[in-house]
Amino acid sequence: MKIDLHTHSTYSDGTLAPELLVEAASKVGITHLALSDHDSTEGLSRARTKAAQLNITLIPAVEINTETNPIHILGYFVDENDSNFLNTLKKNRDSREHRMNLMLEKLKGLGINISKEELLNGNKDTALGRPHVADNLIKKGIVKSRAEAFDRYLGKGCPAFVPHKDTTPEDAIQTILAGKGVPVLAHPGFGVQEETIRLLTEKGLQGLEAYYLKHSPDQIKKFLEIAKRYHLVATGGSDYHGPGSGHEALGQANVPLNTVEEILKRKEKLF
Ligand code: AMP
Ligand code: ZN
Ligand code: FE
Ligand code: FE
Repeated sequence: MKIDLHTHSTYSDGTLAPELLVEAASKVGITHLALSDHDSTEGLSRARTKAAQLNITLIPAVEINTETNPIHILGYFVDENDSNFLNTLKKNRDSREHRMNLMLEKLKGLGINISKEELLNGNKDTALGRPHVADNLIKKGIVKSRAEAFDRYLGKGCPAFVPHKDTTPEDAIQTILAGKGVPVLAHPGFGVQEETIRLLTEKGLQGLEAYYLKHSPDQIKKFLEIAKRYHLVATGGSDYHGPGSGHEALGQANVPLNTVEEILKRKEKLF
């Protein structure tokens, strides 16, 4: 058994279509895979079909960014058929599209012409984000990497930056709970304080992504202790975004084998 509970496909800012993501997971021996696209569950059915062929358990998930950087909330075992939940995600995607229009106008002012169609890669349901622009700038030979694109054009304070009106952490948790999902704080090591985790727990948070690929052993230890203190499930994943993304360590986060079961127990307790 091998588990990865944090990955992205072309339905958000991953570079692999759901089927190719699942094939890549199979190649590295993953048996339990969560697809956690930003603001979208639209890639799940394609991923699930491929996963069934390759004997992989596909865990439905989503990641919602919030206005409080770096708080991102993962939702596990969300109900892909709940129309209210789907409407909320669609609204988030529409707001991303609006922001993208503003960013493309700014780039135009800098003499860089990018159309939205170019960014969508033929997938009109994509939750658009800055990495899509970064990849296009690489394709056009304007920058060499996603990192350079963020440094020169897309990062906060850069010429093409437009802030995104994201939801609050509390609303992100509520959205996931309303979709019968288990809300988990993603990559707490990016700078989330224990007091914030305590407050989020009061708002309904159920888990902490202690085994995040980029956490140091000390961070993992610290977040496992915090998880225990607040009765949170410890989860983990690689945040794989596909080849060329800079987040390419699929399946390498060493997530304990009982994690999926622990998340499921939470789900049963909650709903
Ligand atoms: P957005 O959703 O448009 O705000 O873009 C945020 C996403 O961009 C994050 O989820 C990361 O995957 C990616 N990202 C943020 N900063 C950087 C960076 N400096 N280099 C590469 N990717 C980044
Ligand atoms: Zn992403
Ligand atoms: Fe994230
Ligand atoms: Fe992510």
